[in-house]
Amino acid sequence: MGVQDMQIFNPVKAILEKDAVKNHKSLMNFSGKCALIVTGRNSAKKTGALYDVLDVLKEHGKEWIIFDEVTENPGFDLITKGLDFLGSKKADAVIGIGGGSPLDASKAISVLHANRNSSFEDIYKNPNLEAVPVFAVPTTSGTGSEMTQYSVLTNKDNVKSGFTNFNTFPKVSFVDPKYTLDMPWNITLSTAVDAFSHSAEGYMCISADSYIKNIAENSMKAVKENLENIKNKDSLELRTGLSFGSMTAGYVISHTGTVLPHSLGYGLTSEYGIKHGLATFLFIIPVLKRLYDKNIKFDFVNNIFGSLKNMENYFDKLEINDYRVKISDEHIDLFSERVSKSGHVLKTPGNFTKKDIEELYLEVSL
Ligand code: NAP
Ligand code: ZN
Repeated sequence: MGVQDMQIFNPVKAILEKDAVKNHKSLMNFSGKCALIVTGRNSAKKTGALYDVLDVLKEHGKEWIIFDEVTENPGFDLITKGLDFLGSKKADAVIGIGGGSPLDASKAISVLHANRNSSFEDIYKNPNLEAVPVFAVPTTSGTGSEMTQYSVLTNKDNVKSGFTNFNTFPKVSFVDPKYTLDMPWNITLSTAVDAFSHSAEGYMCISADSYIKNIAENSMKAVKENLENIKNKDSLELRTGLSFGSMTAGYVISHTGTVLPHSLGYGLTSEYGIKHGLATFLFIIPVLKRLYDKNIKFDFVNNIFGSLKNMENYFDKLEINDYRVKISDEHIDLFSERVSKSGHVLKTPGNFTKKDIEELYLEVSL
């Protein structure tokens, strides 16, 4: 068997298991005394994830400070608020509990806390700045932030943009699917199609090798099989399948990054409030169709769905298109300019031009 050149790097210890925090409490440990816990308003408490973490910290004799104000699509102001909240106190670890927003916020706070004189500009420029150890306890199953070195923030101009920092790969990720059991359908759908998009985009990425494609295909299969069944009847087994899909998709993008659909979706989230996963997924099939027209095809489509048409039908049944909005001409112009200059385009096969990108926005707009 011929083997192509490749590079693999992902240092996250990740545990996918019911009661992961309690069963692996020795891993929720760090040198020093105090952890900063970063969460959103409600779900860390409602799911019980916060209390599982506090029980373990208590057993280890640690102290903690809770910053529970993270909102969706965290912005620079929110990160500054978290740092101000910490003030002169020292955090020896940052524990993110929640969806991708608290996990990404915990990574940004971790880097800026470790480098008190650094600015947001610095963290976007230097992917090797020191960071306080990050632990992740996801309560959604989609972003894969529990497996990545990325944090996506909204900047001062209301533009979503991710930074990379190799020291923010979580030290340990405790992925307990029980936290996702009561997640409402709209969040389940949005996060599941985010995971699917990560693996689909990782697979499409021009640098993807056969090892990554193999993991991406298994990840998409898990999302597809479990998502359609959850719509009818929820269970821990199905939720475990979605958490697996999310983690493995995160592992995929930790190697490839995301490609065109993610950068197309960012504007719809910032300017139209469409949830990140849905905003991205709206572009997956339009982008695939354009690539197929250029005879650039991907085995995962046939292996999982049988054909591109079947794939489209599968997602139509989940009513993804109900989330489309009318995108204004001004925004189409602004977003197309921005996306055509993004690094995502260079990693996408098919040489998409600004005109192609405008057409994709027109196709997705109502
Ligand atoms: P989210 O923005 O973290 O949370 C969305 C909503 O879901 C919040 O209202 C949250 O409530 C709620 N929620 C969380 N867990 C819940 C549960 N178990 N049951 C019920 N409600 C729950 O959603 P997300 O989709 O996970 O994260 C999206 C963010 O991640 C975006 O900013 C996106 O850009 C980013 N992202 C990052 C990466 C990466 O590699 N770092 C990859 C993809 C996306 P509370 O506010 O109460 O917590
Ligand atoms: Zn995403």
